Amino acid sequence: MRSVTVVLLAVALCAMPLGAGAAEGPEFPEYSGTEFQALYEYAISNTLAALETPAGQEPVTGNAELDERIWGAAFDRGYRLQPTANGELVSVAGVPMQPGAAEAWLALREEAHTAGMGFTVSSAYRSPASQRAQFLSKLEGTSDSAISAALRWYSLPGTSKHHAGYALDFRYPSGTFGEFRSTPDYAWLAADNFAVPKRHGLIPSYPDDVENQGPNPEPWEFVWVGTALVYCGIPQAMGLTVEGPAAAVIHDLERCPGGMGAASLPEWLG
Ligand SMILES: [Zn+2]
Repeated sequence: MRSVTVVLLAVALCAMPLGAGAAEGPEFPEYSGTEFQALYEYAISNTLAALETPAGQEPVTGNAELDERIWGAAFDRGYRLQPTANGELVSVAGVPMQPGAAEAWLALREEAHTAGMGFTVSSAYRSPASQRAQFLSKLEGTSDSAISAALRWYSLPGTSKHHAGYALDFRYPSGTFGEFRSTPDYAWLAADNFAVPKRHGLIPSYPDDVENQGPNPEPWEFVWVGTALVYCGIPQAMGLTVEGPAAAVIHDLERCPGGMGAASLPEWLG
């Protein structure tokens, strides 16, 4: 983790003052939805702390045959097993989350308040057990269409990005998730390719323009991957040729003095 710390410091120095307008701060790369996804996948495999590898397919209903259909439908939609938090979480206004995400949220919240925005975080870390309860409460029947309807918005236990504690759901205290997309707060967050969240190391979790990512796009969910990764992109590992969506987010390491090192690439990049 030492090289990452060095980069964080270097980026923090050239990123000051973080509260300044986007035009005055350092220039962050523009990312497509697929590239945001690649940053997240890279982060959970390489740079985010306190994560445990996925436990595997957990029971959902307890009926083995039904569970197999549910898991099959989930994987068809692009759901994947996600890591789980295994370190100390911190609570911000009663919402547990990873320390890195908390620090970013507090800074973003201050900037948002200054800009007149009123959204807050309604959910961050969620255990597989509570995810299971939530999914079951939304599953109305055992038909394929009932399963598909629930999977549009609700992850199976073990496949939610909330398990890691780095995903944040934003919304107005009195509003619904569905409404968040049309709020001025969302427009503020999404402006200039998500310039404000990016400066805090936050990226859209389920972007608008990505197919087969599990749930339908969720404009209210953001995930913290760290400022250094968003600023630098995925580092090029020595001697490896990378193809696919991630190739687009591998930036010249000269951009980040000290470098992030040639970390191991996750399997999905191979
Ligand atoms: Zn969420």
